[in-house]
Amino acid sequence: MNVVRLQNSHQEFTVGKILCVGRNYAEHAKEMNAAVPEAPVFFLKPSTAIIRNGESVVIPPISSDVHHEVEMTLLIGTGGKNISLDHALTHVAGYGIGLDMTMRDVQAEAKKKSLPWTLAKGFDTSAPLSEFVSAARVRNPNELDVRLAVNGVARQSSNTRNFIFSVQHLVSYISRFFTLESGDVLFTGTPEGVGPVRSGDRLEATLADGATMLATLTVQVR
Ligand code: MG
Repeated sequence: MNVVRLQNSHQEFTVGKILCVGRNYAEHAKEMNAAVPEAPVFFLKPSTAIIRNGESVVIPPISSDVHHEVEMTLLIGTGGKNISLDHALTHVAGYGIGLDMTMRDVQAEAKKKSLPWTLAKGFDTSAPLSEFVSAARVRNPNELDVRLAVNGVARQSSNTRNFIFSVQHLVSYISRFFTLESGDVLFTGTPEGVGPVRSGDRLEATLADGATMLATLTVQVR
């Protein structure tokens, strides 16, 4: 369940930690009425939350407001601690597209009570992941198009050049506190345009470099 693969390669990685960035686009922070953070805000999802292309997001019965958050993902190839900004990209094996599915009502309640987001963010099927494109094929991870369509209608569209914290900054910063291991996955934050999904919806997420499609992910909502 928690093994991921690089495109056009037989190399397999067993996913360990899934680290997620809470706010990494100023426009999304604004729509959530949240301040632009001075340092990256992180939370974790368990690897059991992963689903793949063609599988289904299952809405837990405790929520009536599950939201999509499309995000560029990256796969750590070489682990490390206290990774410098200069070396950060050499630790990345590949890039992909993912969905940080979120029970927004459960998260709002947790925020109100200053409780953790674990349930709201880490439930089964909350981490749909595409295959990863080899980092060698990516010109600049801080200049890629991140898009999501729901039932064929565009919902989220941005570019990683709008990141508050670059890929290098995220990898370097988090490695000061969490030892990174081969197979760890990082969700890099969602742009503006998050919104609710309903049973029967079809979500299509893409990562592209201009006209070059790098990764695609399609899941249904149940
Ligand atoms: Mg997110």
